[in-house]
Amino acid sequence: MNTTPEANPTSAPVGPREEQSYLLVLISGLASTALALVGVYVLDAKTDFHIMGWYANYILPIGAVLVGVAASSGYGLASWFSGIKITRSLLWIVLALQLAAYFATQYIGFKSLNLVHRNGAPVGFVEYFDVMARSFAWRQNDGSPGKPLGAWGYAFRGLEIVGFAAGGLIVPLVLRKKPYCQACQRYMRTRQLGLAPASVPVKKVKKSDAAGLAAYEAEQQQAFDRGKQTVEALQQHAAGAKTADFQKILTELEPGKKQTAKLPKRFSLQLVHCNRCYAGQFVVKQLLGQGKQLKQTDFSSTELHPDFARSVCQ
Ligand SMILES: [Zn+2]
Repeated sequence: MNTTPEANPTSAPVGPREEQSYLLVLISGLASTALALVGVYVLDAKTDFHIMGWYANYILPIGAVLVGVAASSGYGLASWFSGIKITRSLLWIVLALQLAAYFATQYIGFKSLNLVHRNGAPVGFVEYFDVMARSFAWRQNDGSPGKPLGAWGYAFRGLEIVGFAAGGLIVPLVLRKKPYCQACQRYMRTRQLGLAPASVPVKKVKKSDAAGLAAYEAEQQQAFDRGKQTVEALQQHAAGAKTADFQKILTELEPGKKQTAKLPKRFSLQLVHCNRCYAGQFVVKQLLGQGKQLKQTDFSSTELHPDFARSVCQ
């Protein structure tokens, strides 16, 4: 991302704004939070579906996490489209707002009930919350409510609050990891350029066949070395801004792409770049396994000249 103005004449040098305005992100986040909580309220009131009380294995507050993700989606969307970066302080603000939203919803629910004691004295919020927490009960298999858990109810209320608040941080945290162009204050785009083989296809070799196993191992190592050479050649061309040589290797890899995708080990070749100033990197990731077992590790990253990134994009 070290672009000098003379190297990149089409984009005027932009000094990073000292104070970024989070306002747009906060407003969108609060709007999506309100929508999500109204949705939960309507579901609770009109149907038998109490999403906040939806637990997996009695301990994972999946429902609360999902509501938290939905509630915080506005923060993520606004950040992604406006380019306002999710900073550490913004994460804390989101966490605080999620907690505030949770208790505000509880409070609104409490107020709407207008509870009074037998002697006419109004019921306090803390008192109400205590009764609600202690009356937490698991629904029985036949659909009837179970026995209230008493003090243990607080544990599940706590899990619900943690789930909702933590769920709200998932999208912002994912965005925080995304490559970002500081100069232009926007998220970078990732473009898949191709795949390079880093192994031979899986072959069944009997465990007793020592020679066969050794040969297979050697074959795998050779394939990995070849893949590494390809990656290194691409890195050199990328660093030297040799677009034609770079593209030539990609073109050679293209016909075998389907085959390569099925290999147990392969390299994923990616161009990460800013849409505006074309600062970026040539990023290589090593992919291991398939489907759910897929493991992705960073292999290398090469800084690019903006002209090179631009020409590869075209
Ligand atoms: Zn940029």
